[in-house]
Amino acid sequence: MTARILVVDDIRTNIKVLEAKLTSEYYEVITAGSGPEALDAAAQQKPDLILLDVMMPGMDGFEVCRRLKADPDTAYIPVIMVTALGDPEDRVQGLSAGADDFLTKPVDDIAMFARVRSLLRVKLMLDELRMRERTSASLGVISPPVPSLDEDYSSASILLVEDNPRDQMRLQRMIEGQFRTEITADGADALARARRHEYDSVVVSLSLQNPDGLRLCSQFRTTEETRNVPILLLVGPDDQKQLVKGLEIGVTDYVVRPIDRNEFIARLRAQVRRKRYQDRLRQHYQQSIEMAVTDPLTGLYNRRYMASHLATLLTQSAAQHNTAVLIMDLDHFKQINDTHGHPVGDEVLREVGNRIVRNIRGIDLACRYGGEEFVVLMPDTDLDSAEIVASRLLQAIGEKPVGVKTAAGQLTVTCSIGCTGALAGDSAESLLKRADDALYEAKTGGRNRIIYRRA
Ligand code: GH3
Ligand code: MG
Ligand code: MG
Repeated sequence: MTARILVVDDIRTNIKVLEAKLTSEYYEVITAGSGPEALDAAAQQKPDLILLDVMMPGMDGFEVCRRLKADPDTAYIPVIMVTALGDPEDRVQGLSAGADDFLTKPVDDIAMFARVRSLLRVKLMLDELRMRERTSASLGVISPPVPSLDEDYSSASILLVEDNPRDQMRLQRMIEGQFRTEITADGADALARARRHEYDSVVVSLSLQNPDGLRLCSQFRTTEETRNVPILLLVGPDDQKQLVKGLEIGVTDYVVRPIDRNEFIARLRAQVRRKRYQDRLRQHYQQSIEMAVTDPLTGLYNRRYMASHLATLLTQSAAQHNTAVLIMDLDHFKQINDTHGHPVGDEVLREVGNRIVRNIRGIDLACRYGGEEFVVLMPDTDLDSAEIVASRLLQAIGEKPVGVKTAAGQLTVTCSIGCTGALAGDSAESLLKRADDALYEAKTGGRNRIIYRRA
């Protein structure tokens, strides 16, 4: 996993040392000697991670971090703050500025690389989500979410896994009122709970006995439903080796005992923030996909989706003989709009969509083809069976009036249908064209009828 890392420090030698270490691990290193330079470099060169010195003249590291996190273009770049002192005050200030992790000078190599790798892993995942985001944005849908520093943390649900009763009490007291907290001493129970409920973060004690803390973390990572939950590991000051292992397994963050209350809360908040941002990206992606393939008025598939689905379907040789399609167009629909207004027309279209869906099989695909035109694709269907479906649809639409918001309260609409089955060598276009020709014939022949085309 190679990546571009921005190293920021006002002291040239410090930069040189970090640069040498990172380059030897094949990271690409860019550097900045002050806060403003760092902001420029971050905006222009889009590093994958930033190692940021806290103490710098002029604009200090906290301020740089705050600005990076406030700018949607750089907010997603993970920041590791490098502090001279291991002071909890510093950490809390850094975390509330949006820092993702800390290293204390002199920087320990193993700790640094473990943290760098772990943060890069998260970043890569978010990058992937953001990339899909851009794809769907280009399809012209709602604007993407951005990471945010203010969240409602009191609604965040946290699961504490700690089997030492005194530590349990202490931890619980620390975060009381800050989050919605559940606690368990048993790893298997923790995993079972997390499979049922999606926590915003899980806190695991490394010293857990059954199973041991790291094993539980790895079980969380390999279990489908819990794969993405942030894990905060509680470690002792001498647990460096296990911590590195934990970060490799996929632990998202850690706190060193004795636990500082403010740091613990700040770190949990950072996890909640990231989890929610990640969820928003995922959810937004799902929505965009849905919007890209469905028609918003009726909820049916849109024309683009249907056409590409039909083309794929017809590449299978079996489908060349047993795929049926019908095109349906409402009769004199313009009059409905003209007489009762567009919103009433919309109500009719929506209800027609519902009636279509209710009268086809689950594997059939209903699509809004255009204004008041619909297409139904019927895989694994010969023309005789398609005739049954077509007449059922003609009936379902024309037989019973549609309830609408007009004085009469209802309107009768009929439709005309063109129906055909795929022939050897058919493309999506030729198949739909034949159905459309049949529809035209149904219209000119007097409407409210079905015309079948066998060849
Ligand atoms: P025909 O029987 O020949 O199909 O006549 P028609 O009036 O149904 O056909 P025409 O193509 O002349 O008119 C279709 C109308 O459908 C015109 C258009 O305003 C209306 N329409 C298209 N999309 C929508 C929509 O989303 N909502 C509403 N309310 N009307 C729509
Ligand atoms: Mg029409
Ligand atoms: Mg039409």
